[in-house]
Amino acid sequence: MIIANNINKQFGKLKALDNVSVTCNKGECIGLIGPNGSGKTTFIKSVLGMVVCDNGFITFNGKNILHDWQYRANIGYMPQIGRYPDNMSIGQLINMMKDIRNEKDMQLDEDLIKQFELDKLMHKRMRTLSGGTRQKVSASLAFLFNPEVLILDEPTAGLDPVASEILKEKIIKEKAKGKLVLITSHILSELDDLVTQVIYMQDGKLIFHKKIEELKTDTGQEKLSKAIAAVMLKTK
Ligand code: ADP
Ligand code: MG
Repeated sequence: MIIANNINKQFGKLKALDNVSVTCNKGECIGLIGPNGSGKTTFIKSVLGMVVCDNGFITFNGKNILHDWQYRANIGYMPQIGRYPDNMSIGQLINMMKDIRNEKDMQLDEDLIKQFELDKLMHKRMRTLSGGTRQKVSASLAFLFNPEVLILDEPTAGLDPVASEILKEKIIKEKAKGKLVLITSHILSELDDLVTQVIYMQDGKLIFHKKIEELKTDTGQEKLSKAIAAVMLKTK
């Protein structure tokens, strides 16, 4: 579904992505893991076309994304930091997004809006929102247009435990429908019951891409955090 072929991205001297090749297929929930600054967000932005790679290429359903920006309609993206017009209310923002998409017979998915009880906060302006509420808005928008692919960058950062649990349940539900979910988090315990595969990055390089069962048998560890720690010790 998404294939990255030898992609590189340099910011000045820094190699944010160093020859990354990876294939992401539908029905998988892929945990994108690695220390701060390892290139996770840059990878995600490259897939979205928000960062243009220096070389290499990315395809979405077989088409090079450089020549077909419409693929983005199939992706729901929750950014690490959501930036929105300060003076817009939550309701105005959501309506604006619906207007922009303006697709006929569009199947809207308002599950998260309801579960996060955003319907009671529709009049609130974006600039007055707490970090957690802002995250709830970002999450609701990512799922709203029922996309085939969900890309979630540190989605639970700033969410309270109840909201995190709602979001996790939602991710599991959408994955079960055969969608592709790409998710980053540095709280590995949060990914434990979600991910089917792990991509581990360091210094812009893809260190490994493994099925979760494979990672667990390779390391003899049941918990994702322990398994990752074991692999890291081996590769040092
Ligand atoms: P991660 O999401 O894994 O924490 P990022 O992809 O955000 O890492 O960043 C990878 C590296 O690239 C970091 O060293 C970061 O400072 C650098 N970087 C990211 N975006 C830019 C940019 N627009 N300009 C310069 N450096 C950047
Ligand atoms: Mg990041």
